[in-house]
Amino acid sequence: MKHKIITALFILCIIALFVFLYQDKSFFYLLATLIILYLTITALGSYQIKWNYFIKSVNEGKPEGISLTFDDGPEPKVTKKILDVLELAGVKATFFLIGKKAEQYPDIINLIVSKGHTIGNHSWSHHAGIGMFSKQKLLADFNQCSQKIEEITGQKTVYLRPPFGVTNPRYENVLKNTGMKSIGWSIRSFDTSAKNEQKLLHRITSQLKPGAIVLLHDTKDITLDILPALLNYCKQNNIAIKPLAELIET
Ligand SMILES: [Zn+2]
Repeated sequence: MKHKIITALFILCIIALFVFLYQDKSFFYLLATLIILYLTITALGSYQIKWNYFIKSVNEGKPEGISLTFDDGPEPKVTKKILDVLELAGVKATFFLIGKKAEQYPDIINLIVSKGHTIGNHSWSHHAGIGMFSKQKLLADFNQCSQKIEEITGQKTVYLRPPFGVTNPRYENVLKNTGMKSIGWSIRSFDTSAKNEQKLLHRITSQLKPGAIVLLHDTKDITLDILPALLNYCKQNNIAIKPLAELIET
């Protein structure tokens, strides 16, 4: 992984600095610069899932279409309506569920599955501090979500999406132990903070290119409101919307 190479380089630079420049007046300046640089790269690497800095995620698929993903559901007021819009257009998407919400609304989970969509694991808790969870706690959180999904649907989850797209070395252990594949995105819609429908739609359509994986959320009305226009845009421009497995699996 990239972070191991960067960390090794950082350590080598620090050693070299102590060996060759310890007496030099620029020593502390160079040391501080190196530490700040390393910390900045590490922070950016954990927030930029596309960098594949700590773990390998699938951030785009084959150039044969695009795939839509919805995170953070189920949300009773939104998810069912999104399912209706998708069904009308004959589109299959992926829903990265939060386990504790799935437990509350098993009927919606079964509805998602019955409509032919894919279910993914978006952790049990979606805890704000999940990035600080220990190796064991992180694994247990994802396992709890997978178990709940399997209990409800009888299906095993094969895809996970790290909450907030934040990754760290402990995710390596989750992927190894669960056999799940980490799914990132190539287009982040920022729909949860969007206020203007046209701007949101434009932000997505202006970035659409073959193989795109689009990050949306089935938690806000604005996503539901722009969805028909987004599906229509794809249809008008001959952009096929494919299930995730079709787009990314060989
Ligand atoms: Zn999320």
